[in-house]
Amino acid sequence: MKKSGASLAAVLVVAAAIAIGYLVGRTGESAVSAQDVSPTAAMDRDYYVPNSEDLAPDEMRVIACGTGMPTTRAAQAAACFLVELGNGDKFLFDVGSGSAERISSLQIPYDYLDKVFIGHLHADHFGALGELFIGGSLMGRHLPLRIWGPSGPVPELGTQYAVDKMVEMFTWDLAGRYGVMDSRGLTVDVTEFDYRGENHVVYQENGVTIRAWPAIHGIDGPVSYALEWNDLKFVFSSDTYPNTWFNEYALDADLAIHECFVAVPAMVAKMGFTPESALLVGTQIHTAPEAFGKVMSTIKPRMAVAYHFFKDFDTTGAVFDRIHKTYDGPLSLAEDFMVWNVTKDDIRVRMAVTEEHTWSPPLAAPAEPPSLNDRTVFAKGAGLATESLAFSDFTKSGYMDVDDVLRPIFEEASEVLGREFPYPEN
Ligand SMILES: [Zn+2]
Ligand SMILES: [Zn+2]
Repeated sequence: MKKSGASLAAVLVVAAAIAIGYLVGRTGESAVSAQDVSPTAAMDRDYYVPNSEDLAPDEMRVIACGTGMPTTRAAQAAACFLVELGNGDKFLFDVGSGSAERISSLQIPYDYLDKVFIGHLHADHFGALGELFIGGSLMGRHLPLRIWGPSGPVPELGTQYAVDKMVEMFTWDLAGRYGVMDSRGLTVDVTEFDYRGENHVVYQENGVTIRAWPAIHGIDGPVSYALEWNDLKFVFSSDTYPNTWFNEYALDADLAIHECFVAVPAMVAKMGFTPESALLVGTQIHTAPEAFGKVMSTIKPRMAVAYHFFKDFDTTGAVFDRIHKTYDGPLSLAEDFMVWNVTKDDIRVRMAVTEEHTWSPPLAAPAEPPSLNDRTVFAKGAGLATESLAFSDFTKSGYMDVDDVLRPIFEEASEVLGREFPYPEN
């Protein structure tokens, strides 16, 4: 085969580089020495396994539990970021559709996941709140779920209204749970704050300050957040068009997470948008990659994080290239289970490797046995007659008689655990 002069030169350059690399590798400081590699000893791995690393007292760990779009897919849930602090506090920022199963794979006791900050009330930013509310309680949260979120231009467009209606939607669900499980976690505690507050404090406990400011997205109401603790600053835009509040209040962020939408041509090619609609949604409702870069060039965080796009091999390049037209600082293109360990000296970015077949995480406090009185209290609170929560004679008439096999289960438990568990006679 005949080679051209140019390609022969290229081959020689590559060969020389390999030779130099080999020599440096043998003698330079960065060399992987023979002692680091062994056929039998365990080797370091550059990924995060939940519950395998202590969080240092001065360290912040952020885990992406959702980075995608309103239509969730197996690879990406919708917006959700968990912030864990070295003082033991944990906070969820948005809890978008599909994020609850990501949260469960982290195997964190649910009593520690009792604080949620919602940026706006699109389903892809709070669609999994119901799962966290009900499922979190079933899996060990014995504390009320505390929820912070913005007001709206009218009460019906605020967080309090949305959560009240969600709980109301679950009336049937809750009615059947009271009296058969520890129901202390089946309550919510909502703090709705004025969406027009500019960098105002919405949370201040245990050395942690969380501030909010207005975002521009959809209609009035959305906000962005900053969490400040131990001289570290985490910022989360939720969804917004680029805005001057963010540019001012997100300054000095260590980790700045801002939405960055799918590039317009990909919206047309892969999402079925008309060009007219893609241009509007991709540049006017959301932050286009080029505009994301402009925001980050303005606030100059230690690490910029772009999320809210489907991150695939054939679409990520366009997002990256477009961001780079306007920003060349540190950047993470987020995907689910990306992890940032943030200290004053370092920001380490890795992926988490998680389990899929998870059960309940350990309980942070012991569960309590159910009380039938809980059902009466719930019925009263919901304005229901207590009798409406019991099976009717009609439904009871369909019972199959399996007492002979169920009774021994109670007898077994009584024997093994050394106390009496009476068999329910109805
Ligand atoms: Zn939105
Ligand atoms: Zn969104």
